[in-house]
Amino acid sequence: MFRALALLLLCCSGAAMALDGVTLQLKWRHQFQFAGYYAALEKGYYREAGLDVKLVEATPQTDVVAEVGEGRAQFGVGTSDLLLARRRVPVVALAVIFQHSPLILLASSDKVSNLHQLAGREVMVEAHSEELFAYLRSEGLPPERLKILPHSQTPRDLIEGRVAAMSAYSTTEPYLLRKAGLHTIEFSPRAGGIDFYGDNLFTSQQELKNHPERVRAFREASLRGWEYAMQHPAEIIELILARYDTQKLDRAFLEFEAARTAQLMQASLIEVGHMNPGRWQHIADTYAGLEMRAKGTLPEGFLYDPTPRRLPPWALPAGIGGTILLALVGLLAARYISLARRLRREIADHQAVNQQLQTQLAENRKLELKLQEQVIRDPLTGLYNRRYLDETLPRELARARREGYPLALIMIDLDHFKDINDSHGHAAGDEVLRRLADTLRGAAREGDIACRYGGEEFIVILPGLPLAAALEKAEIWRVASADFRVEYEGATLRVTLSAGVAVFPEHGTDVDTLLQRADAALYCSKNAGRNRVTCYTPAVEKGEAPC
Ligand code: GH3
Ligand code: MG
Ligand code: MG
Repeated sequence: MFRALALLLLCCSGAAMALDGVTLQLKWRHQFQFAGYYAALEKGYYREAGLDVKLVEATPQTDVVAEVGEGRAQFGVGTSDLLLARRRVPVVALAVIFQHSPLILLASSDKVSNLHQLAGREVMVEAHSEELFAYLRSEGLPPERLKILPHSQTPRDLIEGRVAAMSAYSTTEPYLLRKAGLHTIEFSPRAGGIDFYGDNLFTSQQELKNHPERVRAFREASLRGWEYAMQHPAEIIELILARYDTQKLDRAFLEFEAARTAQLMQASLIEVGHMNPGRWQHIADTYAGLEMRAKGTLPEGFLYDPTPRRLPPWALPAGIGGTILLALVGLLAARYISLARRLRREIADHQAVNQQLQTQLAENRKLELKLQEQVIRDPLTGLYNRRYLDETLPRELARARREGYPLALIMIDLDHFKDINDSHGHAAGDEVLRRLADTLRGAAREGDIACRYGGEEFIVILPGLPLAAALEKAEIWRVASADFRVEYEGATLRVTLSAGVAVFPEHGTDVDTLLQRADAALYCSKNAGRNRVTCYTPAVEKGEAPC
């Protein structure tokens, strides 16, 4: 365990030895203006971030944007005009250090008391001072009304009265002029609503693309340095005097600069480094106004967004949780889909089975009906059988009785049928039976029930038919059968029938009596010589009647 820790420490110290070398191009010479970077170096913040940082001073000729754009420096200190510089070099603003710009117009308070007194006078203005021009314009004093001169970079011209005013840094020049015995008045664009950012930290798009982690680390360590410097200005002043005293500055100068810097940074109110896109938009709009355009644009990618790389501590567990949840949801969805598929298959199977069952049921029903028919039908002739007659006659008679209508029974027996079978064969006899069945069916009304009662005996139930009509109907059948010729295998078969008629209610009111009396009448027809129809009378039954 301890050995592993020691190994880890060794690795870390090894990594610390191989620091990443980067250059920060300052925009001026060493002074309190860059306090945060000295603090970051001195306090080891850069080293902790794995960086070996070189700070490079600027001269009036240095083009900081070009230094960074062309890769001689990875980072630079710029002003709001970075937004304009972006047009030629793809720069990215990393952090705003000065929340307000230190750029002012400085004049001798003995000679100038308001801005309009500069009209027609010599004013020297350094490069990249668009905010001053915007200010003059907003105050109704277009720059054309001044005699604008290039900046000599020395306050001497103002002290000796060669210019009425000059652009200056509120953090330094007022001190120097005061020291030279000149009372000054400061005109800040903020008085005219022009509120530009002051110093900011920037890099190139190339650097951000190739070394995003290095950019993040440098930015973070620099801001840490600035936090420290603003909390310990005296310590940093001592540091500048000891290590960065290239301008031979005195402590009082640095103290003045530190105090003015604190005012511009507003570190107690605003987090060091904070950039407000709305403020940048205001700057872009001001530039646009100077170019006679209504609205400025913030180029895409101009503002560095430090947030995406800094995931909150809950992000990893949440991410893992989310992934697990997604996986679970995925699994559930897959299971659901498979179940749904199975269910669909089973439903389809069931439907198929159901269809088969339906077909089978219909088949069964047909068979059942067929069976029922077979049970009540005579297979040879297709007429109802005796069984059906036995079931139906009581029912029909009951209904006739109930509804008060007559019901006739005609009982038929073929004459000498035995002879046909004997001389032409049984099949010939069958054929004759079928022909007679057709005759009975053909002359029957709906509701009449023709039955094969025995071998060659038939009974027809005729509900609602009175006696006279029943006799007529029997007579029709008798004549029809006497007339028909059955051609069978070359032979012509002829047959006659005998019939007996009994009618409800005249001849009887119950099934047995009626059947018996119809049979008596038929017997009478046979006795009387066959091929005739006999109506029941009591005399017929006693055998007294001459049929
Ligand atoms: P009758 O005039 O007295 O009625 O004389 P018959 O010869 O018709 O005598 P009966 O009615 O007693 O004879 C019935 C004959 O009918 C007997 C039998 O051979 C014949 N028979 C009964 N059923 C069938 C059948 O299904 N087919 C055929 N071919 N003949 C049958
Ligand atoms: Mg018979
Ligand atoms: Mg017979």
